[in-house]
Amino acid sequence: MPTLFIVPTPIGNLEDITLRALRVLGEVKLIAAEDTRTSRVLLQHYQIETPMTSYHEHNKLSKLDAIFAALAGGDVALISDAGTPGISDPGYELIQAALAAGIRVEALPGANAAITALVASGLDTTGGFVFLGFPPRKTNDLRAFLADIADEPRTLILYESPYRLVDTLHIAQDVLGDRPACVGRELTKLHEEYTRAPLSEILAYYESHTPRGEVVLLIAGAPPAEPDIWDEARVRAALHDRLAAGERLKDAAKALAAESGWDRKTIYALGVQEKSD
Ligand code: SAM
Repeated sequence: MPTLFIVPTPIGNLEDITLRALRVLGEVKLIAAEDTRTSRVLLQHYQIETPMTSYHEHNKLSKLDAIFAALAGGDVALISDAGTPGISDPGYELIQAALAAGIRVEALPGANAAITALVASGLDTTGGFVFLGFPPRKTNDLRAFLADIADEPRTLILYESPYRLVDTLHIAQDVLGDRPACVGRELTKLHEEYTRAPLSEILAYYESHTPRGEVVLLIAGAPPAEPDIWDEARVRAALHDRLAAGERLKDAAKALAAESGWDRKTIYALGVQEKSD
């Protein structure tokens, strides 16, 4: 059965491609590439002579029939300009249509800027992470987008244009607070750079060093909410109200312990004291 292979390609360093990816690219009948000129450099480097056709943002629907026709005659590989197809790159519509048409889809593991930056950022990976792709460009939309995820406890990963990075850092600091963050720039390339610091420091750095090249922005998730610990007067008043309403001291102490951040036994002792006063 013909297969649609989803093949990741390097995000900068031409060595970052698997042996299997090279074999598959050499064996398939056709390579659907986001930009055939960009991909030609990679294919020539590895002496792969498989024919290519373009598959990009602007023909991703109109090109489906042609790719299915090719799949009728053999395997096809989908590649994007860099990294994993379908991740902030064309691919989803083709993959979905292929699956709906009963075509076998096989994805190869490989290069991806988000995961590369995440593991090197030093930000938490143990509690999961949220990949957000490119955020909205307009200031108000970006603010609303970040406000929506302000309580998200997992590490946030965004792709951003170097031209918008400073504005985005500004707004992120304003909306999310001055959290630990990281910018991974020009990953796997000659001028690879990681800036690991609170948002305010990364902002100050890029305000004086104009960012160039490609960037991934990572921001720590929301810090755990501070527990609301009641003061003694509030505990005493709530306890008094509960006891006055006829609640048993044991039950009132248990319920108030859950609400107040106080220890159940301490509240119980306050109750005993109140009764004896
Ligand atoms: N499909 C790709 C992947 O798997 O990572 C992402 C493609 S998306 C159109 C391009 C964005 O990915 C860039 O704007 C940048 O945010 C990020 N990116 C790609 N290559 C990068 C690199 N070498 N260094 C830093 N960020 C990179």
